[in-house]
Amino acid sequence: MEQYQGIKFNVRFLDERVLDYPIQKELIGWGEKLSKLGCIPTYPNPENPVIISSAGNLSARIGDRFIITAAGSNLGVLTKKDFIEIINIDIHSRQIDVNGTEEPSSETMLHYSIYQKRNDVQVIFHGHNQQLLAHCSQLGLKSTKKWYPYGTLELMESVCEVLGKDDTILIMKDHGFLSFGKTCQQAGENIIQDLSEIKNIEI
Ligand SMILES: [Zn+2]
Repeated sequence: MEQYQGIKFNVRFLDERVLDYPIQKELIGWGEKLSKLGCIPTYPNPENPVIISSAGNLSARIGDRFIITAAGSNLGVLTKKDFIEIINIDIHSRQIDVNGTEEPSSETMLHYSIYQKRNDVQVIFHGHNQQLLAHCSQLGLKSTKKWYPYGTLELMESVCEVLGKDDTILIMKDHGFLSFGKTCQQAGENIIQDLSEIKNIEI
C-alpha cells in the first residue's frame, strides 16, 4: 500500500468545535465493526509514531453538507472529535472549509464527488481488504481501471467514471473498496454480505 504522507489540500477552519450529530454514534460503531472485520488496516502515524492511525474513512451526508472522519484517525476507536463537517469545497484551488478541530480525511474530495453524483447516497464507507479486491470479479463488483495515488483528482475522477446509479460497492483498483448506503446499516451490510460470500466461494 502507498505510504501515507498527509492530506493533499488546504483546510480553512471556520468553526473549531467538536461536532455533535446523532449519526456520529452510528459511524463510531461501524468504524469498530469494520476494523474487527479486517477492513481497516492500522499503521504508526508518520508525524508521531506513538499514535496509531488507520487507512480508511467514513462519511455521512447532513443536509447540503457532510461529515467525514479526520485524517490519520483510527477508525477502530473513533470519538466525536474525529469528525469534521465539510462546508465548502473548491476542487480546482484545492481548498476545503470545515467545522471541527482536526484536518478532514485525505479522501474528502472523493466523498464529495460521490455525494454530488449520487443523490441517493447518504453514507460512504471506504476501507481496505485484500480478500474483496482478490474476489472482485467473482462477486460481480465494478472496479476502477487503473491505480492512482490516494487523495488525487485522478483517483476521484476514475471512481466517478465507473460509478453507476445502482452500485452498492465499488473497488478501487489495487487499493480498497467504497460502500454506499442510505443508512450506515446499509453501507455496512454491503461489506458484510460480500465478505461472507467470499467464505462460500473459498469452501
Ligand atoms: Zn484508501
